[in-house]
Amino acid sequence: MPEITPTLLNYHFLCDRKVWLHAHGIRMEHTSEVVADGKFVHENSYPQRAQRYEELQLGPAKIDYYDAKNKVVHEIKRSNKAEEAHRWQVKYYLWLLEQAGIAGATGLLEYPALRRTETITLEADDRARLQLLLQEIDTLITLPQPPERVQKRICKGCSYYDFCWSE
Ligand code: SF4
Repeated sequence: MPEITPTLLNYHFLCDRKVWLHAHGIRMEHTSEVVADGKFVHENSYPQRAQRYEELQLGPAKIDYYDAKNKVVHEIKRSNKAEEAHRWQVKYYLWLLEQAGIAGATGLLEYPALRRTETITLEADDRARLQLLLQEIDTLITLPQPPERVQKRICKGCSYYDFCWSE
């Protein structure tokens, strides 16, 4: 199975066409105001964070802010419109940490603009679900063509909007 990044897992909850395009190197993030806005929130919400927490590369995943002392993954998001995708992205980090010998880590999803946080843990059934999700993505990205576009609520804010919808 090729290495599947947490970003692809996140996208799998949003749109499989997006998964395929991203996995095949078609990137449009640089054209997206929503992505730029999210990056700004990520980099500026907690200015001291980079000094307190470390960056961790774990196989296909890069955790930007890991609190090694308390075993907490901090994940900052701009909006909670894709909460389920965010939860599974963090669960994937926790699973990869476990596979690297760091068991019992937890995640903290942070929405600074909403002043909201959510604690994420890896539950008993999650490992099997993650394996299934990764297999689904693996099958999807080996398809010769991307899935057809489907009009979704998220399309307007998606970095592939012009790519998919401008005729
Ligand atoms: S614009 Fe819509 S159909 Fe196209 S990749 Fe994004 S979410 Fe999927």
